[in-house]
Amino acid sequence: MLQKQSILIAGGGSTFTPEIVLLLLERQADLPLKELKLYDNDAKRQAIVGEACALLVKERAPEVMFSYTTDPKEAFSNIDFVMAHIRVGKYAMREQDEKIPLKHGVVGQETCGPGGIAYGMRSIGGVVELIKYMEQYSPNAWMLNYSNPAAIVAEATRRLCPTSKVINICDMPIGIEENFAAILGLPSRKELDIRYYGLNHFGWWTSIRDQEGKDLMPEIQEYTKKHGYLSPQLASDPHLDASWRETFEMVKDVATLDPTTLPNTYLKYYFYPDRVVAHSNPHHTRANEVMEGREKRVFDECQRLVAQGHAKDTHFEIGAHASYIIDLARAIAYNTKERMLLIVENRGNISNFTWDAMVEIPCLLGANGYEPLHVGAIPTFQKGLMEQQVAVEKLTVDAWIEGSYLKLWQAITMSKTVPSADVAKAILDDLITANKEYWPALK
Ligand code: NAD
Repeated sequence: MLQKQSILIAGGGSTFTPEIVLLLLERQADLPLKELKLYDNDAKRQAIVGEACALLVKERAPEVMFSYTTDPKEAFSNIDFVMAHIRVGKYAMREQDEKIPLKHGVVGQETCGPGGIAYGMRSIGGVVELIKYMEQYSPNAWMLNYSNPAAIVAEATRRLCPTSKVINICDMPIGIEENFAAILGLPSRKELDIRYYGLNHFGWWTSIRDQEGKDLMPEIQEYTKKHGYLSPQLASDPHLDASWRETFEMVKDVATLDPTTLPNTYLKYYFYPDRVVAHSNPHHTRANEVMEGREKRVFDECQRLVAQGHAKDTHFEIGAHASYIIDLARAIAYNTKERMLLIVENRGNISNFTWDAMVEIPCLLGANGYEPLHVGAIPTFQKGLMEQQVAVEKLTVDAWIEGSYLKLWQAITMSKTVPSADVAKAILDDLITANKEYWPALK
């Protein structure tokens, strides 16, 4: 019998929470639950999502204790895992992250370029606060953090909470591996044995094999030349957002820079920033799409369920894409030694790359945390790109810790998406005004 776990979802007012709750309930054979709690610092959002989730739990697994709160002590006491997915500043600030750089002709994106740097400057304090609460109220718990921008947040946790039990993970490579499986006609990414290295949202697959060891890279590369990562299933999916379709298709071009590997989709922002800007609408960005679409849909559905007093006909679906978080918790809780891509300190695993960079590489996961797998030396092209990007991430964390305007200007100037120090300064000054409530004061 597996020991039951107590789980806290931090960022409990997220639009993804109801789907993740359904998934947790569905996967109780893998990760049985004793208690499930939600925590958010926005009482109104938390109450709407919390009341709807209470119905889901009551109807599907009444034996699981459920509660939601904005009180850190209540939330973080007696838990085994914190699943952290907060968005400091919410979508209103993401809109600024996207629109301010675009106003200056630069990529406006949630995690890449100046928008990602701005979001990082907001997220660091929020994530560190969650870690402090966890350590105060449940010192044996683990935090599984997938709050973005993961690269900057991971560097900040390395520096500010070096002994904390925090694991930083991202769903992007996992999502792409699902596309690989679909392209190959396999039922799941779990059939694939992969090697990958890079930084978060900035990496390359070097090997993809099946369980018998057969090399599957040539077949995916052939497909990618024509369709990018748009699998046949996605191509015929009427619900696929136009922006994601474009991102998957653009891999056709991104992959040509190194035909021996397969790239992370987000490298498009660094290789083709001019094209990305030309295709962006500076007045209506991804944040607007989410606020008008997903956010509205989810809150309407929560309110509908609460008003009718049951969730038997809910439109919420099991959030299968978040399965990796359960795999991660399960690996730690039951010492499964599952292999997963994590964002960890390099420490020589990429042998010719910065020792203390936070890199994304395969690790084995068990009860005592992770053991990274050795990557070896990487080529000049990738090494050069990664050195530049990791400097952006480190300078951003320096700027947050020191309150340094200069370091943040250097960080934005160094981003490959930004054409000059003048443009970087103009963007920075606008971002400072927009983020007054959230950033430390910069001198
Ligand atoms: P969202 O805005 O729907 O929800 C985030 C929640 O975090 C909000 O309810 C907000 O009030 C809360 N929050 C903000 N600051 C907080 C703080 N200091 N303490 C507690 N709660 C706080 O956002 P979302 O789209 O679900 O994304 C959440 C985060 O997870 C983002 O960083 C996103 O990039 C990342 N992420 C999410 C998924 C997913 O499947 N949910 C996948 C990958 C990455």
